[in-house]
Amino acid sequence: MMSPAPQAGHIINAMSHLEQVVSKLPHFIFWKDRNSVYWGCNKNFADVAGLSSPAQIIGKTDFDLPWTREEAEFYREHDRRVMDSGKPEYEIIESQKQADGREAWLITNKIPLLDDDGNIIGILGTFEDITQHKDQADELQRFRMKLTKVIKELEVSNKQLVQASQTKSQFLANMSHEIRTPMNGVIGMTSILFDTPLTDEQRSFVEIIRTSGESLLTIINDILDFSKIEAGKLELEEHPFDLDTCISEAMNLVAPAASAKNLELLYEIEQGLPLCIQSDITRLRQILVNLLSNAVKFTETGEILITVSGEKLENNLYCYQFAVKDTGIGIPTDRLDSLFDAFSQVDASTTRKYGGTGLGLAICNQLARLLGGGLYVESELGKGSTFSFTIVVHASESSLSIDREALSGKRILIVDDNKTNLKILSSTLQSWEMEPIPVSSGQEALELIEGGEPFDAALFDYKMPEMDGLTLAESLPQYKDAGTLPLIMLSSIGDRQAGSSDLISHWLIKPVKSIDLYRTLASLFGTRHTPFPSHHANVTEENKKDLSALRILLAEDNVINQKVALKMLERLECRVDVAANGMEVLNAIQHVKYDVILMDVIMPEMDGIEATRKLRSKSKRYQPYIIALTASAMESDRKECLDAGMDAYISKPVRMDELVKVLHHCIENKGPK
Ligand code: ADP
Repeated sequence: MMSPAPQAGHIINAMSHLEQVVSKLPHFIFWKDRNSVYWGCNKNFADVAGLSSPAQIIGKTDFDLPWTREEAEFYREHDRRVMDSGKPEYEIIESQKQADGREAWLITNKIPLLDDDGNIIGILGTFEDITQHKDQADELQRFRMKLTKVIKELEVSNKQLVQASQTKSQFLANMSHEIRTPMNGVIGMTSILFDTPLTDEQRSFVEIIRTSGESLLTIINDILDFSKIEAGKLELEEHPFDLDTCISEAMNLVAPAASAKNLELLYEIEQGLPLCIQSDITRLRQILVNLLSNAVKFTETGEILITVSGEKLENNLYCYQFAVKDTGIGIPTDRLDSLFDAFSQVDASTTRKYGGTGLGLAICNQLARLLGGGLYVESELGKGSTFSFTIVVHASESSLSIDREALSGKRILIVDDNKTNLKILSSTLQSWEMEPIPVSSGQEALELIEGGEPFDAALFDYKMPEMDGLTLAESLPQYKDAGTLPLIMLSSIGDRQAGSSDLISHWLIKPVKSIDLYRTLASLFGTRHTPFPSHHANVTEENKKDLSALRILLAEDNVINQKVALKMLERLECRVDVAANGMEVLNAIQHVKYDVILMDVIMPEMDGIEATRKLRSKSKRYQPYIIALTASAMESDRKECLDAGMDAYISKPVRMDELVKVLHHCIENKGPK
């Protein structure tokens, strides 16, 4: 069916609908003839042009409307361009002064109007007011520019900060060098003074000068270490070492302070954990010594326990967790967060009462991170603290070869008032398939013996309340069989002098390394195996002979390494001074003619190689025996040491047996001058 033809009435109706639609559109719409004279517009446009109705626009040009002259000219120019080209233009952004005086931003479209023959007869324009968007865009642009400026300023200040931090580290390094040089002079002089006739009072003054000088050097070294880490300049070394030795050496350094306070020092390594690990022993020991020193410092009674556990990550890569647990004063919960910040102490009274700089934990935290882990703390006020840290290490499966046959089933009586120590000793013996019988007092031990319990050997703690280890040992001969029981006494450094007895077959110094305990038990029960290579030569009177006459200079930059080496040399009764780098060595030999220089190869400011070359090229008359301390096992490094003029080398970590051997070699070859 066809639709009916449109009638005139319908057309008029349609036109008025169209007009309504156009007038309702949110856009601004206008149309002009070929000369840019307005033909019509919608209501919105009439409003911005300040006209009361769209009809009033007819016959007007842009010059009759409230826009500025420049704007009117711009619009006419734009109209002409569109009409001349016949091409519509869309999204032209223009500004326009409105009837209400407001400056508006418009986005305009202009389309040429054509008659039936295709001739251009005018133009149709529409626009939208984007003033609000434009303002936002301008705001955004301004913000962007501001941001760019701030970023640039930040970059500049960051550069300045990095520079300042480097300058600071350099300044600290220089300053500590400047302080250390005269300090070493002072300390070096004290060792010369000790050789002169002194009254007791003078001797004690000299000792105070020496210990004060040394504690000042420790603080300076802490500051230097910290700034080195901050500046990213700390280089790690990685070499295999024995974990057992590392821990017991760290413990030995704090043992005198712990023993003076009657604190038990204990450690336990998870059974089966590889003991030969590869990491930076110097830095690991530094963390342990720092945490142990704090534990001793902040604990009055009880015990300090190191535990080591581990988790295999992949192949021979492990994550080891070390925990240092004390029964000391503890730390308030609200202070735990800031504890690892540099120069932070729990409160101001800490410095007055305990001393310290507040740098130790900050250094431990940074070192643990460098070693692949982190530092953590748990603490309860009045009960104690546990500082733990993790490190990632390469580990070789334990080379321990226990002669289980010889030890298996042997019944060992353990007497110790310290429960933790009883637990550690028992589990160690159990891991060797022995049968430990732990009791916590001499009285209990005697009851068992009286009851006729058979034992193959006994382990006594020396220091126990009521009945000490020696009294217990002395009362054994009254009992049948017990009189011939092999006895092992566990004592702290210094206890040995307190009592001695033929009844004791072995004295072991606490904390006891499991290897030493194994060796002792193995010697009792006749095993042929030696499970670990020996790290400690027994210091016999024979060993000490001659060595005590040597005057030694130890050149080593790391304080903990210094202490460990000093401890060994002390056991050999040698006289030792310390230098922290090559420059200090050259300085020191001007005051004192040392027989031997133990020279670390890698040191800041001037390394051992350069110092040796300089020293060898200097005096023809005085030439000390120089022993390189090489962290690297590479043959080429050793050759470099010898080429530079050193006489011998030992590898780090320094071992007593090697040290004794090389010092004897020095005496045989050159003899103390
Ligand atoms: P320092 O001991 O030289 O002041 P540290 O960084 O080693 O610096 O320690 C910071 C502070 O943390 C100490 O001053 C002390 O207040 C607290 N602290 C550290 N270790 C312990 C601990 N084992 N028990 C109680 N407080 C501790």
